[in-house]
Amino acid sequence: MATRDNMGCCRLCLEQHPLVDSHIIPSFLYKPLKEKDGFYFQLSTGDKKESKVQKGVTEYLFCKKCDNERLQKNEDYLARLILGGTSFRGSNLGSSRKIEGLNYQKTKLALLSILWRMSLSKHSLFNEVTLGLKHEEALRCGIMGSQQFGEEEYPILLTAPLFQGRFLADCIMGPSRTKAEGNTVYRCVLAGFLFSFAVGSNRLSGKAAELNLRKDGSWVISLIDVNDIPFLRTACVQIGQRIQEL
Ligand SMILES: [Zn+2]
Repeated sequence: MATRDNMGCCRLCLEQHPLVDSHIIPSFLYKPLKEKDGFYFQLSTGDKKESKVQKGVTEYLFCKKCDNERLQKNEDYLARLILGGTSFRGSNLGSSRKIEGLNYQKTKLALLSILWRMSLSKHSLFNEVTLGLKHEEALRCGIMGSQQFGEEEYPILLTAPLFQGRFLADCIMGPSRTKAEGNTVYRCVLAGFLFSFAVGSNRLSGKAAELNLRKDGSWVISLIDVNDIPFLRTACVQIGQRIQEL
């Protein structure tokens, strides 16, 4: 809990400052939900039931400068990328799309900062994200600008799940944790896209390596029917059941 005047150690710059109440998942990602009923579902693994969660989890983690400038500059770019406002090239690769012309550093840091904030958060929604001190510190240094990440460090894979052939931009779910090829993989759906963050020292191979954000600013997006993404299909079935119960 924040103290009465909200003074505390900012988790990004590590200085003592008044802390501001900041979003764990940036608020622009809730924008497609604004016209809806204002809730999204926590995706969970195992036998746990899905739960309906009020949108916009916030926590006192950062000072004003870190929240409004250091984190915001990358978020602004990601918002323009997802909601429109920045240009990139796209091409069709059969069941995939390739986008080019992205700002690699900004895209990568904006997405990694969401994963990092989920790990810092004490909210139960993000319980599955536990990066550990080593990775939390590496990501903090990256966001502060004192470390740059190559494309094989903290790879981020992008998939567009299709629901009966349709892409649902107003879908947010997450996060959940799994293991793949020796790495820990955190998955969440933001603005309809399934982002998979691989954390570990094992190099990606095959299809996974193809879907990793590239340093040259290109990213191959796999379009997959939700029925072919077992954990997401299971979650959707559970969510459907929960909606009927509400
Ligand atoms: Zn700060």
